[in-house]
Amino acid sequence: MDKELVKDIVNCSRCGLCMDVCPVYKAKRTETSVSRGKFLQLLGIINKKLKFDRRVKYNLDLCLGCKKCKAACPSDIDAVKIFAQIKSEFNSPFDNFLNSAIIFKIKMLALRIFYKLKYPFGRKAVKIKNKKETSLKIAHFEGCATRSVCGKFDAPFKFVNEKFECCALPFYVKGRLDIYEKYKKRNLNKISKYDKVVFDCATCYDTVLNYEGVDKSKIVYFTDFYKQKKLKAVSPLIVSFHKPCHIDNEKFFEIEDILSNIEGITYKRTEKYDECCGFGGDFFTRHINTASILSKEKIENVLKTNADVVLTTCPTCLWSLKYGIKLTNSKIHAFDLAYFLHNFVEIID
Ligand code: SF4
Ligand code: SF4
Repeated sequence: MDKELVKDIVNCSRCGLCMDVCPVYKAKRTETSVSRGKFLQLLGIINKKLKFDRRVKYNLDLCLGCKKCKAACPSDIDAVKIFAQIKSEFNSPFDNFLNSAIIFKIKMLALRIFYKLKYPFGRKAVKIKNKKETSLKIAHFEGCATRSVCGKFDAPFKFVNEKFECCALPFYVKGRLDIYEKYKKRNLNKISKYDKVVFDCATCYDTVLNYEGVDKSKIVYFTDFYKQKKLKAVSPLIVSFHKPCHIDNEKFFEIEDILSNIEGITYKRTEKYDECCGFGGDFFTRHINTASILSKEKIENVLKTNADVVLTTCPTCLWSLKYGIKLTNSKIHAFDLAYFLHNFVEIID
């Protein structure tokens, strides 16, 4: 095992601060579901007292990749990185096959079809006219699930729909660091052809922004184009917002500012707005009980705002919100932020 990796695992002081923030631990209440307990198991492997067996694999898989434990950890231990490296080292060839690009594509296709059947998208997206002319070469980065789950992206400026690879986070968290590196390289090559690349999925945005060697000045979140604009809702609404784990506080407050300043919109902040929605990529397909607890709790908190609409900016979070709405049998609507801004809001100035 890599020495740096062992050092990080040994660095865990067992203080337990990660237990206060880990969504999986909140839902399961088992020591093996939180970073501290996972590191103890990995210590057992380092000391050759434990084998990397089915149970250890299952426990490592019990992670939403939310990075909340890293933010709370006094030793700044990056659990998501450690789990990815361990999986990359110990996964069997069969595990690698299950986490291969082809299986991922089949899974995504199945999920997209399932989503369409479960939540038919009844609304036709409005085409934005009079787009702002710009001399910049702008590309849109479309995530694997964005179009099917959130609706077609549009924005008040001209852009190219470049065919990027998946941001590769799903491969990274499963220990396929080889695929992550390959996709990262391809995406960096494509990014280099543009002045700006615009994102509308918080998770893709955060992943690409953290690529080693990326020119961060080119990576833009689409909401930047709505800042300082005079906006008006097509009808009065009370709106709330779920903050995806992969968007930082600065971006979140910017989004709140945009929503609060739309004429006709009353923005209400959800209690525990930054708690994970529980779906985490395809985590919910393997751990639906844990995901359901978190998804339901999320919607229960949203409902306290009396909002008509809850927004978010990640397809998996949006799916979780819709699932939570079904679980609670509530009437609130859930939309993707980009879809909402271009279909329910007009730019006045
Ligand atoms: S917060 Fe960090 S040091 Fe403390 S128990 Fe969790 S992983 Fe270990
Ligand atoms: S990344 Fe999130 S879900 Fe995973 S162990 Fe850390 S706090 Fe828990």
